[in-house]
Amino acid sequence: MTKDGYAQVKLISKPENMLKTIYTACRTCYSSDSPLNIYECDNAQDNEKMLKLISRVISSGHYSTIEHIQVSFAISNISRACSHQLVRHRHMSFSQKSQRYVKEKEQFEYLIPDSIAENQELKEKFENFMGEISAFYLELTEKGIPAEDARAVLPNAASTSMVASLNLREMIHLANLRLCTRAQKEIRILVKRMCDALTEEEPWLKDYLVPKCERLGYCDEDKSCGRKQVKGN
Ligand SMILES: Cc1cc2nc3c(=O)[nH]c(=O)nc-3n(C[C@H](O)[C@H](O)[C@H](O)COP(=O)(O)OP(=O)(O)OC[C@H]3O[C@@H](n4cnc5c(N)ncnc54)[C@H](O)[C@@H]3O)c2cc1C
Repeated sequence: MTKDGYAQVKLISKPENMLKTIYTACRTCYSSDSPLNIYECDNAQDNEKMLKLISRVISSGHYSTIEHIQVSFAISNISRACSHQLVRHRHMSFSQKSQRYVKEKEQFEYLIPDSIAENQELKEKFENFMGEISAFYLELTEKGIPAEDARAVLPNAASTSMVASLNLREMIHLANLRLCTRAQKEIRILVKRMCDALTEEEPWLKDYLVPKCERLGYCDEDKSCGRKQVKGN
């Protein structure tokens, strides 16, 4: 469990030679040299030179060059509401804890949204309600109802865990959409943690793993948070 009760995120896989791989992909497009020679050349030892080319290529929208990079995260303690939002991203791969195969044996774990948790009376009601759901779920499974059917009563608040993988192009897209203040707080925190875990090892990505307004230079949302000027205003 994390201190603030939100997602626990760990980057569990990323290529060792991320920059070199992207650099080789970028140079291959513009060079008569072979990809192997490019990969082994002196420039591919120089982070500054590689970054210069890479940022130019990404800015021009040549995103296939960053699709070669795949990263994976171990994610725990997110709500089913949040995981449902995450799985809408079609270029991601998921392996999520099954509510069919993993039967709850006691009170299921759940997340209470801050807006409810801040109100003591509503928080208590929420917790009692989760207790009632749990009691009914356990009654169903004790009476022989399979977990895959008993789960019909479990709420959006029920906690889940997954391994999620995606390529760098999708990672940037995910950050652009889900770091925006229009995204719900829980998924914003989750995606921020994914970005932080990655930029800790690859600091050069900080410029890309940002809300979309930072990349666009303006806000394209109807309801703006005011961070950037709204498009057309
Ligand atoms: C603030 C916010 C509010 C939202 N509210 C709602 C809501 O009320 N209801 C709702 O249903 N969803 C909602 N969503 C989800 C949203 O509609 C998208 O499903 C989700 O954000 C995934 O984004 P995506 O499709 O751009 O990305 P991905 O699925 O990650 O795809 C990345 C990109 O690939 C391309 N792509 C992928 N698949 C196709 C395809 N089949 N055809 C053409 N191009 C494709 C597109 O360019 C796309 O942007 C919301 C999302 C946000 C961030």
